[in-house]
Amino acid sequence: MTSWVSALLDSAAGRWCGVPQATPLQRPQGEAACFSGSVLLCGKISPHSVLLRQHLSLLPDSRFDEASVGPFQAIIFDGTELQNTKELDLVWQHLHSVLPVLAKNGRVLILARAVADASNADAAAAAAALSGFTRSIAKELGRFGSTANLLSLRQGVQQSLLPVAEFFLSKASAYITGQVLPVGAVTIAELSPWQKPLQGKVALVTGAARGIGAAIATTLTEQGASVIGLDIPQAEEALNALMQQLQGKSLVLDISQSNSAQQLQHWLTEQGLTLDILVHNAGITRDKLFHRMTEAQWTQTLDVNLRAVQAINSLLLEQQLIQSGGRVVLLSSMNGLAGQKGQTNYASSKAALVGYCQYMAMQDHRGITFNAIAPGFIETQMTAAMPAIPREVGRRLNSLSQAGLPQDVALAVAFFARPDAAGLNGSVLRVCGQCFIGA
Ligand code: NAD
Repeated sequence: MTSWVSALLDSAAGRWCGVPQATPLQRPQGEAACFSGSVLLCGKISPHSVLLRQHLSLLPDSRFDEASVGPFQAIIFDGTELQNTKELDLVWQHLHSVLPVLAKNGRVLILARAVADASNADAAAAAAALSGFTRSIAKELGRFGSTANLLSLRQGVQQSLLPVAEFFLSKASAYITGQVLPVGAVTIAELSPWQKPLQGKVALVTGAARGIGAAIATTLTEQGASVIGLDIPQAEEALNALMQQLQGKSLVLDISQSNSAQQLQHWLTEQGLTLDILVHNAGITRDKLFHRMTEAQWTQTLDVNLRAVQAINSLLLEQQLIQSGGRVVLLSSMNGLAGQKGQTNYASSKAALVGYCQYMAMQDHRGITFNAIAPGFIETQMTAAMPAIPREVGRRLNSLSQAGLPQDVALAVAFFARPDAAGLNGSVLRVCGQCFIGA
């Protein structure tokens, strides 16, 4: 709902005072392919960009602009073969004249070598420079609703690059900008289709009755998965209504109870179900300055946001109730990464999820990947409850000058859940419009 504060800031008076105005973002509307429009490929062409070009050339409505005249819907800069810092001049030479003709809601995708794989210090510096460039140009492009992201490619990456590039070129990444995502070298049997990539998969979403969880359940269903929605007894009515609409299953369970993992295990076994996708979305806030925070506020927050996640994963992994090659996605938070006054409990739990996710990703769990998403300011009942002024500040304090929608987070979850997203493991993806707070 638009508040009077919001209306004032968006008015001529707001513009006159220099309040940044947002360009409406184009979000997916059931497109048949990840991308359509004109693409410019530049930089130092390597096997990575050759592969990407071959792949994108197969799309019915995409074309490579050889004359470099624009306007471009996407610009891909291949920096994977930059050997030294002198070659960074290519960034200016190739991008300076073409970025002004990037279309509104355009995409800039930078390919870089992972710094850890650089052959010498000069190459490592060049690779790292590209992340600074990406984060800065994302801030400049935000007012046009355009995004810039960097894929940091590990040695030997081939096909695993393609689904990740597809996502960042697509409308599904509309609210993700200024991000650096590492892509690992893994073998992918076959690429998932753009439409319904999750066909035949069984997904469990915790906290599915409303907000981001409801959007995740809806998006996973739209992408072909059969969804089990889990929520607390107080949310049963809303949960059942949504699951009926999605033809999914409801599971009423408070995950903070000491035996909730066992209850979930029994339920899955009774139903004869094994999960392909597990989304730990349920979360609570119990905000108070630390010196006023009660022990109950501290423990409840950690119990729901963190310890329930650990307990459920431990048991389901031990009992092999998550399929080999499965996908576990955890909902962290920008405040977990950046810290927030009044949220020592919440930020501890959300930062812990990142450490936990990164550690789990390093272990051998039968090809199951663990990735975390850190949403910024997303329009939900949680954020609607904020006072008007801090809410408006929260909405606008990012490169795209607007809040994200639950759908933006849901599409990122679905991206990590794709069978061909095996090259992503232990990643933390911020869905925040490049929020100005945090690293
Ligand atoms: P929300 O409060 O609207 O929804 C949370 C859902 O989790 C509710 O349906 C609730 O009933 C359920 N839940 C709470 N405790 C539970 C328990 N013990 N057992 C089972 N279910 C439980 O929240 P949201 O805004 O949709 O946020 C979803 C997730 O995203 C949370 O983990 C939150 O921390 C994270 N997040 C949200 C934002 C945002 O801007 N909204 C930003 C960063 C991170």
